[in-house]
Amino acid sequence: MTWMGHGDLGCACGSTHVSRRGFLCTGAAAVAAAPVVVASPAANAQTQPTPAPAPGRPILIKNGCVLSLDPAMGDFERADVLVSGGKIAAVGPNLTAPDAEVIDASRAIVMPGFIDTHRHMWEGILRNIIPDSSLGDYFKIVQRQLGPHYRPEDVYAANLVSALGAMEAGVTTILDWSHIQNSPEHTDAAIKALADSGIRAVFAYGNPANGLADFRDDPRQKYPEDIRRLRKQYFSSDDQLLTLALASLSNPPDRVADAWSVARDVGAPITIHIVGTAMSGLVQKLGEKGLLKPDTTYIHCCTMTDTEFKMIADSGGTFSIAGYVEMIMGHGTPPVQQVLDLGLRPSLSIDVETTVPGDLFTQMRTILALQHNNIWMRSQAGEKNLPKMLTARDVIEFATVEGARANHLDRKVGTLTPGKDADLILLRTDRFGVTPMNSATGAIVTSMNPANVDTVLIAGKVMKRNGQMVGVDYDKIAKLVDASRDYTMSNAKYERVKL
Ligand SMILES: [Zn+2]
Repeated sequence: MTWMGHGDLGCACGSTHVSRRGFLCTGAAAVAAAPVVVASPAANAQTQPTPAPAPGRPILIKNGCVLSLDPAMGDFERADVLVSGGKIAAVGPNLTAPDAEVIDASRAIVMPGFIDTHRHMWEGILRNIIPDSSLGDYFKIVQRQLGPHYRPEDVYAANLVSALGAMEAGVTTILDWSHIQNSPEHTDAAIKALADSGIRAVFAYGNPANGLADFRDDPRQKYPEDIRRLRKQYFSSDDQLLTLALASLSNPPDRVADAWSVARDVGAPITIHIVGTAMSGLVQKLGEKGLLKPDTTYIHCCTMTDTEFKMIADSGGTFSIAGYVEMIMGHGTPPVQQVLDLGLRPSLSIDVETTVPGDLFTQMRTILALQHNNIWMRSQAGEKNLPKMLTARDVIEFATVEGARANHLDRKVGTLTPGKDADLILLRTDRFGVTPMNSATGAIVTSMNPANVDTVLIAGKVMKRNGQMVGVDYDKIAKLVDASRDYTMSNAKYERVKL
């Protein structure tokens, strides 16, 4: 996408084609752009920092295919989105704003940014080290071997690169499930990296990855009580890009209950993994004590009982499914159908970048294929009156609308609704792997990947444009990240598989 002054929209067909299928505009513009082989404007070297656009000026996104995902607003084959004061001011055809900076979206889909409801961002420096390992290997290598050797600056580097990678892939809100609280200084470093990155994040304060059988034996750790300091020091308002949650430990039940009580005392929502036999019956026990409430998100839940699913549904809790990791590492079959059968819809999450791509395109495709496979298997076994198969639109909503709900931010993000914060992305359609763009929802789920993410706005601030992160010095950050990776792995005596 090219940035231009107002009045120079660069669309070859202009508004006269509005009544036709909007995608014709894309084709006409491509032809008018002249030479067949031409350097892409997005192909510039990553090492060149991109200057930030003028702050505070309204932004008018023109002639995009707009998926608002707000049923009251509807979607548009061709429309404009006006961003002002960090918020979505208007969505519709032929908007005008004489003082606005204009983004030509005539070759793009405009939609809400993706929302990840569970990622251990401190593992950002450990990307792709165990692409084919089991959950047991993950615990052994990542949490018990590497985690204890993290210094605060390593948490900073990891969280920063994880946030930048997420935004680069079109993720505008992320829940940092941070179980690297080896000391309060580690916690501070994680929060600082999130703040420095500019991403919208829920910082979920968790237990330490310090390698001890019981982390309470480590005098440096303050879990869960330190959450009281965090509330005062960093999260005195919920009207900011960073909000607070408790990443709950998983057993035993009485300690879980104690941690939840502290979280609720400071008004922090709760997020908890439900995985493995060690946790079987935990939800039921907590439910019988009356502790299940709408403030809690339950992750994985692949082997949970029907009774527990029902208890969570009755409590108003939400679900986070990390389908890719669940199938690779052996958590069990992702419980998409169990959630749908309760009349609920799940959010999606990446979990660990040691093993999982950091984008929501992968998660959407994984869940769509998995749910269809389950229904086909049941059908081929002769079962009748089967549930509906998910659609491409369903999984896009899981990756946006439902993510906002699970992160307790649906009043602010998740749809392109006037009055909400302007967290949105532009996905390029003028790529040979997408052309001809016959269906917007079909293209997103079938043909696109992070390379299609051209522009990213968070609260109206441009974080990525022309396919490059804005105001980020790649070389500087890569140096920081490499140094932390080298320090941590060498001290942990971990030898990575380099080839
Ligand atoms: Zn996890």
